[in-house]
Amino acid sequence: MKIAVDLDGTISEYPEFFRVFCKAMREAGCRIYVVTDRPEGTEDVVAEQLEGYGVTYDVIKVTGEKSRYISEEGIEVLFDDVDEYFRDLPEDVAVFKVRQKYNFDFVRKNWI
Ligand SMILES: [Mg+2]
Repeated sequence: MKIAVDLDGTISEYPEFFRVFCKAMREAGCRIYVVTDRPEGTEDVVAEQLEGYGVTYDVIKVTGEKSRYISEEGIEVLFDDVDEYFRDLPEDVAVFKVRQKYNFDFVRKNWI
């Protein structure tokens, strides 16, 4: 199984969870793609950040076109905090949305 995980607002907010999750999933035979909408050419910075978190992975992809990349690669799961990246994904891609202050109203108890 191929699994995409966003960095900012996702791994960056729950590094301990994703450290354990990515390790376990890779040991189970999954491929972990860290897919981030950072400026082009920042793969080294991303790798350094992931190393700091202790998060292991197979591929780093820097792209603003996450949906297209995920479709092209046949990735089956995406963890992300931003709806925009879910919209154009095929129906059979499982989506796990990370809750943050900017996408969830904790007073009204609903998604923004
Ligand atoms: Mg994000």
